[in-house]
Amino acid sequence: MIPFNKPFLVGKEIQYIEDAVNSGKISGNGNFTVKCQEFFETNFGFKKALLTTSCTDALEMAAMLMDIKTGDEVIVPSYTFVSSALAFVRQGAKIVFADSRNDHPGIDETSLEALITPKTKAIIVVHYAGVACDMDVIMNLANKYNLFVVEDAAQAIDSYYKGKPLGSIGHFGAFSFHETKNIIAGEGGLLTINDDRFIDRAEIIWEKGTNRSSFFKGEVDKYGWVDTGSSFLPSELIAAFLYAQLEQLKEIQKKRKLLWTTYSDNLKPLEQKGLLNLPYLPSFATNNAHMFYVVTQDIKQRDALIAYLKQNGIHAVFHYLSLHKSSYYTKNNPTESNKQLPQSDKYTDCLIRLPFFYTLSVSEVNEISKVIIDFFK
Ligand SMILES: *Cc1c(COP(=O)(O)O)cnc(C)c1O
Repeated sequence: MIPFNKPFLVGKEIQYIEDAVNSGKISGNGNFTVKCQEFFETNFGFKKALLTTSCTDALEMAAMLMDIKTGDEVIVPSYTFVSSALAFVRQGAKIVFADSRNDHPGIDETSLEALITPKTKAIIVVHYAGVACDMDVIMNLANKYNLFVVEDAAQAIDSYYKGKPLGSIGHFGAFSFHETKNIIAGEGGLLTINDDRFIDRAEIIWEKGTNRSSFFKGEVDKYGWVDTGSSFLPSELIAAFLYAQLEQLKEIQKKRKLLWTTYSDNLKPLEQKGLLNLPYLPSFATNNAHMFYVVTQDIKQRDALIAYLKQNGIHAVFHYLSLHKSSYYTKNNPTESNKQLPQSDKYTDCLIRLPFFYTLSVSEVNEISKVIIDFFK
């Protein structure tokens, strides 16, 4: 069976974990944490980068930093992972769901202005498959209505919008190093803070509401409880693993792009015959080869193709279920139950993700492509 995903080692992960243990410190905010954060700040121009234990945590930190509270509205695409909405619901926000673009699962930027009310506090964008949303349009709207923008960049490491690294454009960005992403640490994440006003407070929220970071920098002579927060920082064991992956970022990306292009070249003829759709890349976006997906004509064809792949030893999977139709949301927002988001529903029904991970081989991609071509014969 070719699995959908497989975690991988690419360099010195095990050695660095041993180094961390031998250094006598494996709790958070040690040498490897600092090295990872500096790597992100230097290579991607984030004003401040803080490692977290997940992207979900990073989104929760962003919600706290924006002081989201009961009565606030937050705009979120419906076609995304639960955390993109849940992190703000926990602070009391009402979620207003937006649709996807017709040509891409990312948020339809032209639909946003109509969703803004005097209660709107923030727009959450998700760079699906690492492909940028149209950030100029979104940031202009945010400026016009005085809103915050959070980039859920969980899938978007090393990807760009008109040359700008994703995660560096909104007020905040949130990345994931879950084992299904390009760079992995088992579980892990990163909050990027691109607005100076929030940097000091972010460090406090990160460290359980204490000014411990200032204490270690010698800025105060004792530390105590000064704000809200939680335990958001990962252990050095996670940071050590992550740093070894970061050292190999170029290598990982090179391999992933080769796999992506192989799928794309192999399956292009099916798209040309109108049998399915391949990922669309807007001209403002780069491709970080986070995933390879196809979009079928309907849900019946999707299920049949997944079953056919399975019979042939290939594990392919569908992805998100429109959050505006989820049981949790509809139960808590009965007045929103008639909302129509047809593009989100289309991707819910028709999108299939194909096996994609660093140690997958080009010959396996060729084999998977051949099975898909056979299916359409
Ligand atoms: C993976 C993912 C998350 C969650 O990341 P965790 O690190 O598991 O919390 C959130 N949003 C999107 C778009 C994701 O792909």
